[in-house]
Amino acid sequence: MTNQNASEISKKFIDLADKFGAHNYHPLNVVITKGSGEWVWDINGKKYLDMLSAYSAVNQGHCHPKLQKTLHEQAGRITLTSRAFHNDQMGPWLEQLTQLCGMDKALPMNTGAEAVETAIKIARKWGYTVKQIPRHKAEIIVCDHNFHGRTTTIVSFSSEPQYKDDFGPYCGGFRSIPYGDAQALESAITPNTVGFLFEPIQGEAGIIVPPKGYLEAVSQVCKKHNILCIADEIQTGLGRAGKLFAHQYENCKPDLIILGKALGGAYYPISAVVGYNEVFNILKPGDHGSTFGGNSMACALSQTALKIIVEEKLPERAYDLGNKFRDGLANLPTKVVKDVRGKGLLNAIEIQHNAGKGRFYSELLQERGILAKETHDFTIRFAPPLVMEEASMQFAIDTIKEVFSKTQAEWLQK
Ligand SMILES: *Cc1c(COP(=O)(O)O)cnc(C)c1O
Repeated sequence: MTNQNASEISKKFIDLADKFGAHNYHPLNVVITKGSGEWVWDINGKKYLDMLSAYSAVNQGHCHPKLQKTLHEQAGRITLTSRAFHNDQMGPWLEQLTQLCGMDKALPMNTGAEAVETAIKIARKWGYTVKQIPRHKAEIIVCDHNFHGRTTTIVSFSSEPQYKDDFGPYCGGFRSIPYGDAQALESAITPNTVGFLFEPIQGEAGIIVPPKGYLEAVSQVCKKHNILCIADEIQTGLGRAGKLFAHQYENCKPDLIILGKALGGAYYPISAVVGYNEVFNILKPGDHGSTFGGNSMACALSQTALKIIVEEKLPERAYDLGNKFRDGLANLPTKVVKDVRGKGLLNAIEIQHNAGKGRFYSELLQERGILAKETHDFTIRFAPPLVMEEASMQFAIDTIKEVFSKTQAEWLQK
C-alpha cells in the first residue's frame, strides 16, 4: 500500500511533509489528528489502537485529562525561567522523582539523547576526579546493537551502519561488547573504564530480553570493579516493561538511571539522569546545563505524569496485560511467526524471514485498525499505552492473530 491508497485528504498532508520535510523517517500512510487513551483517529475519522505509543512515550495514554489540566494551569502561570533562577515546580518534581527511584539526586534535560550525553559526562568526570583516571582516557563499555539516541557522540558507538556510517568522525572512549553476556563485560574492563551503559531490554534492536541473571550479574561486576552501572531506562522504564523500572526484575542496582519518553506524559519532552550523591557531587556550577532543562512547564507536567503511573498502577497493568498479550499470541503459525517476546507491554513479533516483511504486516494491521511499526525488517514492536482497557487488548490479540495467520505470499493470493 503506497500513497495511492491514502485518501485524498490524507494525501494533502503527506505530500506537504514529503515536499517540505527532510525524509529521515518512513511513516505509515496515516495522518493522525486526535487521540484519547489508547486510541487515535485519522483525519478521515477512522479509529486505531495505538500499539506504538510514540516509541513508549505515551505510557499514560493520549491526552490524559489530568495532564491536560496541569498543562492549562501551568500555561497561564509561568512556563520557562531558565536555571539562572529557581522555579517552584522543579524542586517538588526532583523530590518526587528521586524518591520514586530510591536515589538522591536528579538532573533534568529535555530529550533522551541529551540525558544519555549527560550520563556520559557525569561518568567521565567521576572517573577523572574520583577514580583518578588520566585525563581523556576514560572508557565506557556499551553493548552491540544498542540504541541510546542520535547525537554524534552516541552514534559513534552504535553498531547500526545506517546510524553512523556517514556521520563520522567518531567520538572515542567507547568499547562495545555482546549484549546479554556479563562475562564479556568483566573481560572488557580496564583500569580506565568508568562505566557500563546498557538497556535492561534492548528496544530498537527488536525487544531483546537478556538471559535471566544478566541484570544482577552486570550490577555485581560493576560494583566489583568500581565502575558505574548506567541503566538506560528511557524506553523500558516508568512501567512500560511491567515494573516501574525494567532492571527491577532482578537484584540489579544501577548507579545512574536515565529516563525520558514517558517522563513527560506525552505532553512535553523531559528527560533526566537520576543517581546518588557520591556521584552527583562531582558536578559544579557551569559543568553542564540546558536552557530548557528543568523548566516549569516540563516539571509540572512530569509531576502529574509520574503521579498517574503510581495512582493508576501502570506497571502492574502493563505486567498483567503483557501476559495476556503473549498468552493470546502463543500459538501463531510458525510458518509466519518466528518469535513473540517481551516483558510487560514492551513486546515484539519477529516474522519468519521467508514469510514477508514487517512493513507488509504493519499495513495489514493498519487496515484493520491497529497502528504498529516495524523495527528493522522483520520485527514489529507492540507497545500500547499502559492505560489500555482489557477489551482493547482482546481486540489487539484477535486482529494480530488474523493478520499473522498467513504468509505474505498467501495474503497476496487471496
Ligand atoms: C528513544 C531512546 C533514546 C533517545 O531518546 P530521544 O528522546 O529520541 O533522544 C535513548 N535510549 C533509549 C533506550 C531509547 O529508547
